[in-house]
Amino acid sequence: MQNKTLADISRTKTIATVGPACESLQVLKDLIDRGVDVFRLNMAHGDRESHETAIARIRQAEDDLQTSVAILIDLAGPKIRLGQLVEDPRVVANGQTLTFVRGAEPNSADELTCTYAGLVDEVQPGQAIVLADGLVRLQVTGKTEDRVECVVVDGGTFRSRQGVNLPATQLSIPALGEKDRDNAIWATKQSIDFVSLSFVRNASEIEELKALLREHDCQAGVIAKIEKREALDNLEEIVQACDGVMVARGDLGVEIEIYKTPVAQKRIIHTCLLHRKPVIVATQMLESMHTSKQPTRAEVSDVANAILDGADACMLSGETAIGQYPAEAVTMMQQIMLETEQLLKRSASKISGPDDSHQNDVAEAVMFGAAQIAQQLEARIVVISSSTGETALIKSKQRDFIPTVCLTHHRSVARFICLYWGVIPVCTDQPHPPEQFRAFVNEWAKSVAMGQIGDPIVMVTDNQWMPDVHDNILVGRIS
Ligand code: PEP
Repeated sequence: MQNKTLADISRTKTIATVGPACESLQVLKDLIDRGVDVFRLNMAHGDRESHETAIARIRQAEDDLQTSVAILIDLAGPKIRLGQLVEDPRVVANGQTLTFVRGAEPNSADELTCTYAGLVDEVQPGQAIVLADGLVRLQVTGKTEDRVECVVVDGGTFRSRQGVNLPATQLSIPALGEKDRDNAIWATKQSIDFVSLSFVRNASEIEELKALLREHDCQAGVIAKIEKREALDNLEEIVQACDGVMVARGDLGVEIEIYKTPVAQKRIIHTCLLHRKPVIVATQMLESMHTSKQPTRAEVSDVANAILDGADACMLSGETAIGQYPAEAVTMMQQIMLETEQLLKRSASKISGPDDSHQNDVAEAVMFGAAQIAQQLEARIVVISSSTGETALIKSKQRDFIPTVCLTHHRSVARFICLYWGVIPVCTDQPHPPEQFRAFVNEWAKSVAMGQIGDPIVMVTDNQWMPDVHDNILVGRIS
């Protein structure tokens, strides 16, 4: 961070999924250096030991680079996955027949098992079973007590442990199954910052996960993955209940018609902006970079459009986990972000807010005022001092382009800010008394924001500076 200037740091945050292609300390450090803010560990893949090793390495990298990086644990939720295939990968053609059977062990290449025992009971003849993120479609032709006979209507390739979607079936699978609860409790013992839940259907499922984490004394933020029709129906309540949202387009594009996903993405992002919640756009963002050094034009446009829609973060999945070019994918993401943000900047003449429908109306008003002052004075930088990160989130959602740094002495708060658009977290060992804070602001304004002596700077501090007052806005000049 110290050798970068604000011109090199995108406002939009980058999430990289960890896997064999990037799990060494050296590659993790390189990815952070290239712009990764958050690492995702997908509990659907890998084992505890490999996840614990990855967490330790990410923390080591964070320490070595003296920066803040967040870790997101992605719980499978009521996501159904294929079991081990006899033939892996499996290629099927239209008209071929396959059979879902109970249990964990298929007896032949034409038998499939899955992680949800109820599938055989709940799926009905005529309904669709979709594999490989929508690439392979089966139709149920008949059932016996222990077998579901299917015909392939869209042939293709699928692999062990890939997702199984039943878009037309009402499933009674619980939101947090035994494995998820166990993984969530494991996560409470790790140095992690966010836990995401797949296949969320309503707000109570988010509250259930939050209660479980808090019961185990874990303050991690809960991210709702929106990938089901029911989640779109209950979007407002889910967004209000969670700490952030992921537009999980892989499964969303299977659970609803794929051509409806761009409109759903815009609606989800807009709802998050209204409710001051960070929102991540995920899946197939630079898909072709699994095997190519260059993305397609359409992928570049997709990332750019997610940024223009208002995403706080864009996520790389297989591109960094198992792809051949994880470093190039992160760099490409940064380049698209920095370039696209110039267009956002030109249209961001009006600062949004303050919105008095929000609980923290004083902080909303103060941040709005501070941004107005900074804009009018053409301040070089806004520096927020915050012990909760709430002011940083409000500033982030104003979507102005005044460079913003949030100084906090809580490591967990600095890591939360890794997901907030346009705010750079800086973690200090202890709270800064006023003179040290002022000196820090001066130093950052000169080094990272490339300010000159005399340039205006705006500081927003929370109430620990004086009893019985809310936030303060301080205006000064670089000296
Ligand atoms: C998705 O479905 O888009 C997603 C992010 O979840 P997963 O990677 O678990 O399929």
